[in-house]
Amino acid sequence: MLKTKDILDEKDKRLRLISKEVKFPLTKKDKDLIDTMIKYLHDSQIDELAEKYDLRPGMGMSAIQLGVPKRYFVVVNEITEEDDEEQKFDTYILINPKIISNSMEQIYVDEGEGCLSVNRPVEGIVPRYARVTMEAYDIEGRKIHIRGREELAICFQHELDHLNGILFTDHIDPKNPFKGKDQMRGI
Ligand code: ZN
Repeated sequence: MLKTKDILDEKDKRLRLISKEVKFPLTKKDKDLIDTMIKYLHDSQIDELAEKYDLRPGMGMSAIQLGVPKRYFVVVNEITEEDDEEQKFDTYILINPKIISNSMEQIYVDEGEGCLSVNRPVEGIVPRYARVTMEAYDIEGRKIHIRGREELAICFQHELDHLNGILFTDHIDPKNPFKGKDQMRGI
């Protein structure tokens, strides 16, 4: 079972690697890693499990955050509605992903973006497209297209950055962390 301490910290230079394209069929190791990542993200968003196993809540994770420089990430997005009896999630697995279209509109996370590899509060604006269409491959190697908006779109862009060795903190100007705020919508 994946523990929070197994996730690379921002000081780890491996997070700066450009991850490599994945060849199909996937190895069993990669499939197992994907399952492990999904389970962590799922459990981390359920309070009693997060507490029990000491998990930091997160909705996205890239392979490189576990030291594997391959171009894939997973997202577990909570979609629970008011009258649902238990929490519900959508799970996305994106292999060799890229953005094929994006909105002109830009947004940012009001309370600041978070990352399982950044264990400190970071203030500032990270400009992201409000809507993106991703092209990627699923675990069987089939081409897929996924549209994301708002928080999901931000998550896709955040994870894609990881595959290119970029952390969200890189987007923030330390001298002027709220630069551009007036031109964007906070969510
Ligand atoms: Zn991250």
